[in-house]
Amino acid sequence: MKLSFQPLGLTLRDTFRIARESSDIRKNVILQLEDDTGLIGLGEAAPSRYYQQTAETVMAALACLRPPSDSDSFLFEDLIAMARPQLGQQRAALCAFDQALHDLAGKRLGAPLYRLFGLNPAATPLTSFTIGLASLEEIRRKVEAAADYPILKIKLGTEQDRAVISTIRKVTSVPLRVDANAAWRLETARECLSWLKDEGVELVEQPLPPHDLEGLRRLSESSPLPIFADESAQTPEDVVRLNGCVHGVNIKLAKCGGLREALKMIHIARAQGMKVMLGCMIESSLGITAAAHLSPLVDYADLDGHLLLREDPYSGVKVANGKLILPDGPGIGALAKPFS
Ligand code: MG
Repeated sequence: MKLSFQPLGLTLRDTFRIARESSDIRKNVILQLEDDTGLIGLGEAAPSRYYQQTAETVMAALACLRPPSDSDSFLFEDLIAMARPQLGQQRAALCAFDQALHDLAGKRLGAPLYRLFGLNPAATPLTSFTIGLASLEEIRRKVEAAADYPILKIKLGTEQDRAVISTIRKVTSVPLRVDANAAWRLETARECLSWLKDEGVELVEQPLPPHDLEGLRRLSESSPLPIFADESAQTPEDVVRLNGCVHGVNIKLAKCGGLREALKMIHIARAQGMKVMLGCMIESSLGITAAAHLSPLVDYADLDGHLLLREDPYSGVKVANGKLILPDGPGIGALAKPFS
């Protein structure tokens, strides 16, 4: 098995801004595994500065990863267990390796990933479409342009939170999900939750800083809306710690280290009676489609990272009126597109 990788530059349609950062371009990494029959498995790393990752740190970590050249690529548990300590905190790099192993296995068996996982492709959830922070005028324009999406995810966490929601409510009555990206403190969060409920918001993601589990627990106890952890829920161990602190978790392949880790998190969350959302970073259709194959297992999807790109170098999962439509080609089923 031969491993190689290269950076992938992605340009966003609009500046994407959340409470702590904004970006116009992203640099991800594409990893390729080639077996001795010439079949190729692909995976995508979407590094996040928030988790101390860049394309450079991901590529430096991958350069040290040496799966034995005679290894059986079907033994993903063994190969991932070998890679995990080598890649350390570079979990976006682990994610790319994990996706490529699954893609290769699916291609060798001639089966799409959802079949390898035993999942029903008709059971995918609707995905939300994200509206980042912007001027009120810009938010209004973005919401109008998102008329095809039946659920919106709204980034909050600034002084103008109330104005953002009332601007959106002048344009649409669709259900809203709110993500504060850790920007509030307990009292602000309590205040916001009471009026957000009246505005048709169905859940609130990461209201408090990631390490404030006690704050999350106190907030969740009396919250009129379900509280989800995102930044607080990076690994399977985090989901164990979050038991009793939140109602649900947002799981992302790039954040946890790929499909195997995501599956563990889903099962731990379920065993603790928690709801599950599957989210994403800004990624091409390669990484988003890999995640979408797990979506029949979850309650909520926020798999829109590829929809925010000016040009997506891959095609794969489709979104029709919010519904995720899985490709049925082997493996991840994402195909490279020629640039227009
Ligand atoms: Mg989030």
